[in-house]
Formats: sequence, C-alpha cells, structure tokens
Amino acid sequence: MSMEKEFEDKVALVTGAGRGIGRAIACALAREGALVLVNYHGSRERALETVAEIESFGGRAEAVGCDVSDYSACGKMVEEIMGKYAHVDILVNNAGVTRDNLILRMSEEEYDKVLDTNLKGAFNTIRHISRYFLKQRYGKVINISSVSGVLGNAGQANYSASKAGLIGLTKSVARELAGRGICVNAVAPGFIDTEMTQALPEKAKEAAIGTIPMKRMGEAEDVARAVVFLAGKGADYITGQVICVDGGMT
Ligand code: NAP
Repeated sequence: MSMEKEFEDKVALVTGAGRGIGRAIACALAREGALVLVNYHGSRERALETVAEIESFGGRAEAVGCDVSDYSACGKMVEEIMGKYAHVDILVNNAGVTRDNLILRMSEEEYDKVLDTNLKGAFNTIRHISRYFLKQRYGKVINISSVSGVLGNAGQANYSASKAGLIGLTKSVARELAGRGICVNAVAPGFIDTEMTQALPEKAKEAAIGTIPMKRMGEAEDVARAVVFLAGKGADYITGQVICVDGGMT
C-alpha cells in the first residue's frame, strides 16, 4: 500500500535550485510529493540536472529561469506559475551569492550585488507571491539565511548584512501574514559543503571547521531536512523563527 506523501497537492518554488543547497531542497520537497519549480538564473543546464534528478525517482519538477534580483522579472515568473498551476504553496528563497572582501577594500558593486540578490531577491518573490498566499489562506515561506547573519563574519560585511536583513524580513512578514495561516521562517546554515564553500582556500576551510563544535562541515541535505520540516504540517504553528543548522556554531 502506498502512503500519501505530505506535499502531494503542493507546488513549491525554490530559487537558485540548480546546485548545492537549493538542489537538495528541491529534491527533498519533490521526494515528499511536491511539484517543484526549479528556479535558476545563470545556468539553465544545472537546473535541468536538478529536474532530471527529481524525475529519476518519479518526482515532478520544471525549470524556471528568472533573476531574483529583478523585481519585475519576479512578478512575471509568479504570474506564469499561477497561470500554469493556479496555486503555489511553498516558497524557498535560497538563491544567494558572496563577494567577500574586507570593509576597507569592498567595492560598491560587491556590496550591491550581494544585497540585491540575497535580500532584495527574497523581498521580490515574497512581494509578488504573498497576495496569492493571502487569497489561499495558506503558504509557507522559508528564507535561507546564514550563521554569518546571526554572528557576523570578518570579510563578509555585505553578505552578513544581507543575511541578517533576511532575518528581519522573515520576522516582520511573519507578523503581517500570521493571521491568515501563512508561516514565514528562516533557516540559517553554518558551514555547508557546496560549490560556494569549495571555492574557499584550504586554509580558510580548516579555520572555519575549527570553529564548528561538531568539527565537520554540514551537508546540503542537513539544511534540506529543516526546510522540509518547516514546509510541513508539523510546523503549522511555527512562524517568525530562525533554525540554525550549523553543528553548534551559534
Ligand atoms: P551555490 O552552490 O553557490 O548556489 C547558489 C545558487 O544561487 C545557484 O544555483 C545560483 O544559480 C543561484 N543564484 C545566484 N544568483 C541568482 C539570481 N540572481 N537569481 C536566481 N538564482 C541565483 O550556493 P549554496 O552553498 O548552495 O548556497 C545556497 C544558499 O545557502 C545561499 O543563499 C547561501 O548564501 C546560503 N548559505 C550557504 C552556506 C554554505 O556554507 N554553503 C552557508 C550559509 C548559507 P545560477 O548559477 O543559475 O545563477
């Protein structure tokens, strides 16, 4: 006898889902039955790999291109999704970039790029989707923040500001939408093994691992499990929270 999957009737949009944590989240939601819209900006090829992985285990997915930092493009994406599927139930704001530099050397471009993608990107999708969530009287928003946004991190003033900003966005929107049964939460990963962290020099990686009480990096799937929990019924009375998935860092 086949058990009904938790997200069988749900449509989920995961931004930046072509690789890393976004891909793990997309796969995890699809395994629970969600139809997953795999957003990408730079690489359609990687998004199609995520779609193929989901289809390989019998899941449902489609790649949707959109630069999340572009307000009107996000509006268009949401309209297209609504036109095609008539509802969207889960929004995971995962797309993110780094442009690390010490504050004295950080350029205006480095600052703007990171804030526009990581923070304004989440505003853009939430701004366009929330009216449908309100009409449905249902919706789950999960914003992927970072321990850098909780603790700060030398060399990441722009990134930390964007990730701390996401926590403020999460808590405020949670209060605004709570009366209509919509949950808005954040997950703050620590040091997770993806292309983002593989790009760091070996020395920096060792130093980072030294600050983790569990003495190892996390896996993208560790983050995905927290997202699946927050997206599910088990978290219907949880909103405005930040769950740190960080091996004890914070
Ligand atoms: P990653 O491997 O670098 O992947 C980032 C993803 O974001 C890519 O799929 C990229 O897609 C997408 N993206 C970037 N700019 C975009 C835009 N303007 N519009 C749409 N998509 C965009 O990073 P990751 O490690 O998986 O990180 C995922 C999220 O977790 C990020 O928000 C990151 O800040 C956060 N996080 C990561 C760690 C970690 O240790 N790895 C720790 C804490 C938080 P395209 O290439 O198609 O543009």
